[in-house]
Amino acid sequence: MTTATHEETLGFQTEVKQLLHLMIHSLYSNREIFLRELISNAADACDKLRYQALDNDALYEGDSELRIEIEHDAEAGTVTVRDNGIGMNRDEVIENLGTIARSGTAEFLKQLSGEQQKDARLIGQFGVGFYSGFIVADDITVRTRKAGTEQGEGVEWHSKGEGEFTVADIERETHGTEIVLHLKEDAGEFADDFRLQSLVRKYSDHIEVPVRMPKVETARDEDGNEIEGSETTTWETVNEATALWVRPKSELSDDEYKAFYKHVAHDFSDPLTWSHNKVEGKLEYTSLLYVPGRAPFDLYERDGARGVKLYVQRVFIMDDAEQFLPLYLRFIKGVLDTRDLSLNVSRELLQQDPQVDKIKSALTKRSLDMLKKLAKDPEAYQTFWNTFGSVLKEGPAEDHANREKIAGLLRFSSTHTDSATQDQSLADYVSRMKEGQEKIYYIVADGFNAAKSSPHLEVFRKKGIEVLLLHDRIDEWLMSHLTEFEGTRLVDVAKGDLDLGEIEDEEEKKAQEETAKAKEDLVKRVKEALGDEVQEVKVTHRLTDSPACVVLPEHEMGFQMRRIMEAAGQAMPEVKPILELNPEHALVARLEGVEGDGFEDLARILLDQAIIAEGGHLDDPAAYVKRLNALLGA
Ligand code: ADP
Ligand code: MG
Repeated sequence: MTTATHEETLGFQTEVKQLLHLMIHSLYSNREIFLRELISNAADACDKLRYQALDNDALYEGDSELRIEIEHDAEAGTVTVRDNGIGMNRDEVIENLGTIARSGTAEFLKQLSGEQQKDARLIGQFGVGFYSGFIVADDITVRTRKAGTEQGEGVEWHSKGEGEFTVADIERETHGTEIVLHLKEDAGEFADDFRLQSLVRKYSDHIEVPVRMPKVETARDEDGNEIEGSETTTWETVNEATALWVRPKSELSDDEYKAFYKHVAHDFSDPLTWSHNKVEGKLEYTSLLYVPGRAPFDLYERDGARGVKLYVQRVFIMDDAEQFLPLYLRFIKGVLDTRDLSLNVSRELLQQDPQVDKIKSALTKRSLDMLKKLAKDPEAYQTFWNTFGSVLKEGPAEDHANREKIAGLLRFSSTHTDSATQDQSLADYVSRMKEGQEKIYYIVADGFNAAKSSPHLEVFRKKGIEVLLLHDRIDEWLMSHLTEFEGTRLVDVAKGDLDLGEIEDEEEKKAQEETAKAKEDLVKRVKEALGDEVQEVKVTHRLTDSPACVVLPEHEMGFQMRRIMEAAGQAMPEVKPILELNPEHALVARLEGVEGDGFEDLARILLDQAIIAEGGHLDDPAAYVKRLNALLGA
């Protein structure tokens, strides 16, 4: 046995304690994932050593055959996972196995539902993998030495998972890490050849590093009896051990693709779809991109993890290489393996490399094509859209070149279904356009109900013209970058003059002009009464049920966007709305007959109501209530 020196006992960081408590006391189902986590760490350690050894062969210390070994001892009740990867020094051991530096962990602890199955699955996703050993073990010893250091610089870490751990210096001949789990009494099932092998195949088949297990063979005599003392141990590779993306598509099953996804994306659920491509020619790369079925917790965080796992000629270079996909496709996960970059590429260098942009635009196209294909399965696409739609909506602003493609992928609510589910495409809309209809009409509002019940829709509903109901925060931003779809203009029905083009016949137009004339006097009086508060007063034919509505000039920023900007602390220049009156409405007819102070009160009520219907705020709501109550005779 090695002698340990310089032993110290340290306390786990608070979050680790919480996590360990959970591991030890509440996770009973799905305990097998501990092995996946430990193998995944071992594989990462091998990847890291291979990468660092590119510049410094000596780090291999003469042993460049990277591998992971799993052993068990049923009698002692232990399982050991060993790798000859990069290893850790004392400081790294304390840092990596005593604290949780990752922001994901706090998030993990927040998301705990108490449903054990679900919680256990979350473990991998949030990268709190190592501690999952304590799901099955009541005692863990880690022996490790960083590649390239002296044999005397080995470290031993030991803990029972109860609040503290010890670290000590040890002699260690080989570099890399060995983790010995002493199984809890009720976890003895894992000290079993067959069980371990099937778990390795289940979770780690696609890992490039070979995972080996010992096979003990005993020679037999002529009668078939085992010869005592003749045991020899050979190591058998249990997993497939080739990088999955290198294998031809025809050889790969859906299950293998799915298992690989779970590994690269740290996700526990299946992806919605994937696209695996090998490209040779001007660019040389292999990509395997996935559309996840669920959103990561940091999808909307500025520095959330995104991008692909980058390999150069099969050598792992970095996780989360975000330079290869645009921001609006940040939900895509996967692997890129290329020959077009040098092995010593760094994040900084990636930013300057012209090849990166070329690959980026190729991967962008692939991703958009993959989504287009996915759209052929409406149910799966709806899952995608509900999860990532509002991210994809950033696309038209970010990526002009692919605007048309992205537009084809968008989905909206619409008066066609009057459902809050965003499931109508622009192509669907166009195919339903009325004869003579030249534009795609939409409305933007704070929420689905506000959009659906907006007075601006009244004339459209009457004439049976479909209007898209946009109710996401980002929609107005989206529409300011999406002005047409395959040659058809997109028009906000709450802005500018209402021009239904060919849909209206000459007679209707004439009748409207006549009404406008007849109401000229009323319009003038209302404008005088409201003064500066409105830019203009008009009679309108967009309304059937409401007495009035407010409209913005065509190129003015919409109401919804203004509210968002104001909420974000942006000072917005004041904009005066145009008040439009419905000449057919009883209140407007009544207004015409009122003289004196009562006229201004009623005119103001109409304006204030129109603003409220738009989801806007009144400057003086109390005054509105007072006027209204006076009108109601209170
Ligand atoms: P993650 O793998 O998501 O980083 P883990 O809890 O699984 O989180 O591991 C924590 C850290 O401990 C790793 O990032 C790594 O630095 C270190 N580590 C764990 N296992 C090994 C190993 N076998 N060899 C080297 N370092 C390791
Ligand atoms: Mg891990």
